[in-house]
Amino acid sequence: MLIGIDDTDSPQGMCTTYLGAVLVRRLIHEHMQIKEARLVRLNPNVTWKTRGNAAIAFEVDGDPGRAFAIACATVEELSDLSCGNTNPGVVVTETRLDPAFYYKAVTDFCEIDEAVSILDTAGARYQGWKNRRGLIGATAAVASELEDRTSEILVYRRPERWGTPREVDRDSLFATESATFPHTWDTVDTVNNVVVCVPHTPDPVLFGIRGESPAWVMAARQMIQSEPHGIEQLYVTNQGTDAHLLAGIMAELCEGLSYRVQGIVGSAPVTGTGGHVSFSISEGNHTVRCMAYEPTKNFRSIIRQLLPGDTVIAVGSFKKGSINLEKIRIVSLARSTITRPPFCTACNKRMTSDGKNKGWKCKKCDARAADPEIEEIPQTLETGWYEVPPTARRHLAKPLCRGEPEY
Ligand code: ATP
Repeated sequence: MLIGIDDTDSPQGMCTTYLGAVLVRRLIHEHMQIKEARLVRLNPNVTWKTRGNAAIAFEVDGDPGRAFAIACATVEELSDLSCGNTNPGVVVTETRLDPAFYYKAVTDFCEIDEAVSILDTAGARYQGWKNRRGLIGATAAVASELEDRTSEILVYRRPERWGTPREVDRDSLFATESATFPHTWDTVDTVNNVVVCVPHTPDPVLFGIRGESPAWVMAARQMIQSEPHGIEQLYVTNQGTDAHLLAGIMAELCEGLSYRVQGIVGSAPVTGTGGHVSFSISEGNHTVRCMAYEPTKNFRSIIRQLLPGDTVIAVGSFKKGSINLEKIRIVSLARSTITRPPFCTACNKRMTSDGKNKGWKCKKCDARAADPEIEEIPQTLETGWYEVPPTARRHLAKPLCRGEPEY
């Protein structure tokens, strides 16, 4: 069977992945076999998410009726039902669901009724609490098919420590990064000297290590020194796979969806209030604004060097008329020049225009020239891929250390 759960936490606490870790232990206690634990990120632009729009699914051998009862009891016990925005959903299905619903949930927006209709058709057991929105994520998680997959080990805090400052040894995190990158990533941000894998929210997570395989994240996890910890859970995930991206056509971008879009830089990048950098790209008659927000830090210094005429592939979510950049490919660089009146070789002074299409003339000696002086602006950028730093990376964004996209 597959068990899916979503929407159990609130900004004040809990985490669906922790609830899943507790459930796993309860199912094992009932002699059930856990074959796989999945952490599935869905459309990052859903505004009613708590944090990272995660749902979980478990592939389990055992009695489905019993597993459903235990999962529902665990949600009743641990989820933060007092929060208006917490609307849990639990699904247990003995047949595989069409992965189309997962693909829609990770790239687009779904309705609760769509999920319910899929569950009814499959004869699944399910329960939704309050407005039942969690059934969307729970259904998408059990329907998920992870063509590309990564791993994360989540280490949780002991309940008596929840809400207190976390104690994770900083040096051990930087040592782990240097020993295991690029097989693990986003433990720390070395360029910005920031710890990335330890959250600051009041949830049960102590830290999470992301990487290419269970073996690599487990090896990295062993290197980290911290406060006495509670339970831990290894998940396979769609994190770091770009599963949210669609091939975009500039004229047809939809609010809240994420794209890769090719275009030619139209306006030079401008740094606005708050340090956010914006520029436009065009494709035919259509133009779209691209944003590199202040939290993307050093990525902005790449963006600021773009010039009108450069061809780029912008990658990110389309929100309020802008593509919020997660990464960018500079496909080709424009030859950029400045055109100025030529010098009079006799007087060593710049000539002035003699009228439209009439060339240039020296005011002093009346010498004439047909062509202007053309100076090439040296290009500081190189073509290729550039990405936001780990501190600004979204869960689903594929880091370049996993390989550059083939588009
Ligand atoms: P956490 O990851 O910390 O558990 P969260 O950020 O995952 O929290 P949730 O509390 O799960 O946020 O809220 C997300 C809600 O949005 C869930 O009810 C989920 O079912 C729903 N949802 C997820 N993806 C979509 C989608 N594509 N369209 C509509 N609703 C969605």
